[in-house]
Amino acid sequence: MHGRAQDRRFDAFRLAASRGVFSGRVDPSALPRLDDRVAGPGGYVDWTIHGCTDADGRPAISVALDGEVPLTCQRCLGTVSERVEQSTLLLLARDEADLVRLDEASEREVVLAGEPLDPAALVEDELLLTLPFAPRHEGDCAAPEGGAER
Ligand SMILES: [Zn+2]
Repeated sequence: MHGRAQDRRFDAFRLAASRGVFSGRVDPSALPRLDDRVAGPGGYVDWTIHGCTDADGRPAISVALDGEVPLTCQRCLGTVSERVEQSTLLLLARDEADLVRLDEASEREVVLAGEPLDPAALVEDELLLTLPFAPRHEGDCAAPEGGAER
């Protein structure tokens, strides 16, 4: 079992209103929903969360990730380090009804933020959407003996 090293839950609406910024680092191998994707320890993801608004003035947060995540190469079954560098704007919903409304009104991702949010869970959500399902080394790597499946 992985214990949360620190609880850094935050009020996303307050962060958006104050244009606040905070940041931290997670070990991707400690994120439970990535357990079957991450090849092992040794990676890191630095995250920065900015409070902001979208172009229509709706409260939002920007989640920026910068790191490296060890994945299993689907050709040689060795470890391939996947570079993660991205920034995503998430609209904030106060409740389920708000979530549905925003989802219909915008192309943006929407996050339910009526309760304090856990930054590690947000990073986990973004990584689940971002990490390739069939990671491979760039360039050449040898398929293991007897299994050249593609
Ligand atoms: Zn490989």
